[in-house]
Amino acid sequence: MSDAPAMWSIRDAPGKGLGMFSTRRIDVGEAIFEEEPLVLRYRDEDGVHHTLKGEPNAETAEMIFDWNALPCNTSSTLQGLFVKMSRINHSCVPNVHFSYHLDEGIGTIRALRDIAPDEELFISYCSDFETRDVRREELQRRFLFICHCSLCTADDSTSLIEDAHRRRLLHLLSLIHADDSPSQTSSIVDEALIAISSHMHLNETKEVKERAKLAHAACLICFGGDHPETVGALTASKP
Ligand SMILES: [Zn+2]
Repeated sequence: MSDAPAMWSIRDAPGKGLGMFSTRRIDVGEAIFEEEPLVLRYRDEDGVHHTLKGEPNAETAEMIFDWNALPCNTSSTLQGLFVKMSRINHSCVPNVHFSYHLDEGIGTIRALRDIAPDEELFISYCSDFETRDVRREELQRRFLFICHCSLCTADDSTSLIEDAHRRRLLHLLSLIHADDSPSQTSSIVDEALIAISSHMHLNETKEVKERAKLAHAACLICFGGDHPETVGALTASKP
């Protein structure tokens, strides 16, 4: 895709320094822009200061990298520093998603829901399914800020409901990873997929047989049609 700046701009975000904003309506699943990483490295590699031009201090360079790098593989061991994407601020209810295509070496930002003109774009810097207290602790420890997103500033009853919802998702995901019984895992995956689809505001279907279609729909939004994750989900959805 071209890198036309028509869909976004960078400007002051009150209380947060700079931020990225939509310049027009963006549809759910739409690719907003792509970018190659300035630096791509495995987490424990040394010497990022050699690549960050103008920042000869190794400690400062490491700090810049840690605060801004995005995960580029599923285990987050491969991390990339992106110049434009690093301008996207955090929210615990993000409206855009970052994905990285390993073979093409390109990161993409996609809309997680319909976005109105002049909305600030947000990705999540922390664990998606954690409770408010855990997210707050993680954001303060790793990024030294207190989150004031719409969820973190919601009233306690709203926050408690969302915490319970996220805890349930986290529990289901831990069961999927821990369980080695195919039949039991299958029912847990069904439940998790339906819960995740609800979390992403996809149309929830009650039919378990639709689960692969739900996974494919979620992958289309997050990764786009040609990403290996989406191709794998499409294959799985075919009889
Ligand atoms: Zn928050």
